Amino acid sequence: MSASPEQQLRAYVDYLRDLGIYDLYRRDDPATVLPESLRAALSAKPASVPAARAVTPPAPTPARSPAPPPPVRTAPPVASCPTPPLVASPPPDYFSLDPVTSSAPDLGAPMPKPKSFDALVPVPTRVIPAAERPAALESVRTEIGDCTRCPLAYGGRHKIVFADGDPSARLMFVGEGPGADEDAQGLPFVGKAGQLLNNMIMAMGLKREEVYIANIVKCRPPANRTPEYVEATTCSQFLIQQIDIVRPEVIVALGGTAATYLLGVKQSLASLRGHWYSSRGAKVAVTYHPAFLLRDPRQKGEAWKDLQRVMAELGLKAPARPSPST
Ligand code: SF4
Repeated sequence: MSASPEQQLRAYVDYLRDLGIYDLYRRDDPATVLPESLRAALSAKPASVPAARAVTPPAPTPARSPAPPPPVRTAPPVASCPTPPLVASPPPDYFSLDPVTSSAPDLGAPMPKPKSFDALVPVPTRVIPAAERPAALESVRTEIGDCTRCPLAYGGRHKIVFADGDPSARLMFVGEGPGADEDAQGLPFVGKAGQLLNNMIMAMGLKREEVYIANIVKCRPPANRTPEYVEATTCSQFLIQQIDIVRPEVIVALGGTAATYLLGVKQSLASLRGHWYSSRGAKVAVTYHPAFLLRDPRQKGEAWKDLQRVMAELGLKAPARPSPST
């Protein structure tokens, strides 16, 4: 079920609060700070405040005489605030209406071009030995914790979907983000698209346990929408660590979102397919996301061409098809 606009707004407010921004209206900027001269003038005691007068108790009245009328109350004298002298000086910056100096964000700005994983952080020179990789990956999972680093933490996710597969896999698949089934089980590619990916892996002569599978973002975007720039770039830090630990020889980017953030490009999938790229020391191929292939099965043949190039690179052979008599 998709989140309503109110729920999404609430999620962003919660996100800001998670960053420590509680007061969305007051800022400790110069616009809210009184000039020193005015503050001193306002805090100074006025010289004309009258001294408090002693109250004379009323004289005792005869027992049977009528009660005197209540005294008429008068308002206390109001101390006048001295007016600070006018000083001829240029207006402070915060009076400026010059839009160039405004810090208001441009909400209509296009999505910035993401940086490739290689441009974000250098590839470590040390290769983690295979025996240490499970523990190293576990430490990344521990670092993620019950993550609230991006708005997807508040978009209705149930489980953080870390990864699945062999910590020393030669081949890694990178998708976009978890769907409903993945969010429920905490594993990537376990729904219908996951079944198709399993079939693709088997067609390559491999088992699912022999490859490593992860996504650009680890939490399900509401209504399975494409991850936002801030979400993908925030979560990428973990996938980069995972790639650096696993050190696959080949990464297959499943779909445009995976290619965009892995490679730091913003191009059509059609233009990206059929070429080799590089990321974190691995060769990268781009192909269709299995969810897209479910919607348009005619493209399965094209995806198979992409996978055959990967198989040739890894020296894999497709398993022999069982003969009709078996
Ligand atoms: S998507 Fe990634 S960065 Fe965002 S909350 Fe989930 S784990 Fe954290």
